[in-house]
Amino acid sequence: MSRVIYLHPEDQPVAAPVLAPGQAVHDTRGRPLRDLRISVTDRCNFRCTYCMPREVFGADHAFLPHSALLSFEEITRVAEAALSQGVRKIRLTGGEPLLRKQIETLVAMLAQLRTPDGQAPELTLTTNGTLLARKAQALADAGLSRVTVSLDALDDTLFERMSDSGVPVATILAGIEAAARAGLAPVKVNMVVRRGMNDAQILPMARHFRGTGHVLRFIEYMDVGNSNGWRMDEVVTGAEIVRLIGAEFPLQPIQAHYHGEVARRWAYADGGGEIGLITSVSQPFCGSCTRLRLSPEGRLFTCLFAEQGYDLRALLRSGVGAQALKDRLAGVWLARGDRYSELRGQAHRDHKIEMSYIGG
Ligand code: SAM
Ligand code: SF4
Ligand code: SF4
Repeated sequence: MSRVIYLHPEDQPVAAPVLAPGQAVHDTRGRPLRDLRISVTDRCNFRCTYCMPREVFGADHAFLPHSALLSFEEITRVAEAALSQGVRKIRLTGGEPLLRKQIETLVAMLAQLRTPDGQAPELTLTTNGTLLARKAQALADAGLSRVTVSLDALDDTLFERMSDSGVPVATILAGIEAAARAGLAPVKVNMVVRRGMNDAQILPMARHFRGTGHVLRFIEYMDVGNSNGWRMDEVVTGAEIVRLIGAEFPLQPIQAHYHGEVARRWAYADGGGEIGLITSVSQPFCGSCTRLRLSPEGRLFTCLFAEQGYDLRALLRSGVGAQALKDRLAGVWLARGDRYSELRGQAHRDHKIEMSYIGG
């Protein structure tokens, strides 16, 4: 078993490189910093069995107190520093991001930011959809570009079992339609597939979303966090899913929208739209991973499977200026060497961060 040793950027102050507009800081494996995922809360109204099982996240679970969370102003300062270092896409996530009060105010603040070459960042949000019907228009008005909605089954009983909530599927479907009406389109619908749990819903989901303009994406079940008891034999690979759907509706592979796009795209041959496969387990994409993650209380993580983050909150609250933030951010990225999914099985991790804390 090999152990990966990371340099700790907090020990080695670094000056952010001077970048031409459009350029990005690169990590030790030559990957540019392009995406910032911001987790705005560690709370959720669902208890998806693969993410926040109720045995672990029960009534006595200690969630972060509100005072520990970064304020909207602090988040915006981090986002501004990240844009200066190459970020072009910002995704809000959680926990359940729509549980954070006045989230549309944060969206409006982020929507004002610009990259060094004057572009508005692409601003998206991932949600379980329960509050989306109510919030979609306000989010769109605030400047959100698009949403991704998680939905693991169309069958109510199965959905209830997967999400461990009493929310009916119709609520999520109404959220998806409201988002499309508000212009947050194309809506992406994420389905995590777990063998023996919801794999029988692959075809019903494909049939339902074909021809709607929404893009259904299948996510291989991952060994994130320490609480879901992940087993390899529960992973249904992207290749299996393409075979299954392709037998009913012929599919053809299509080009990625851009280098580093996470989902592999397949189009229905008859023009019924497209699906995406996120094959993090069977075909890892660490080589083109350009994502930096900010936790609700201001820690930076350079990988979904990281064991440690780098504190930014103390720096933010110490009254330093924008340059110190840029330097810290650049230092973290310059030292980054993560490629957990490529090393899976070799890189042992005892204390991975939880998905509900850092977001997908
Ligand atoms: N609560 C929001 C939601 O569910 O969309 C945002 C946060 S959630 C952690 C982000 C994404 O991570 C969701 O699409 C969820 O399905 C996915 N996810 C959570 N645990 C996962 C796991 N073990 N394997 C694969 N995807 C997972
Ligand atoms: Fe909540 Fe999203 Fe995790 Fe489900 S996947 S428990 S909705 S954070
Ligand atoms: Fe990126 Fe880490 Fe996932 Fe690899 S394992 S794709 S480095 S987040």
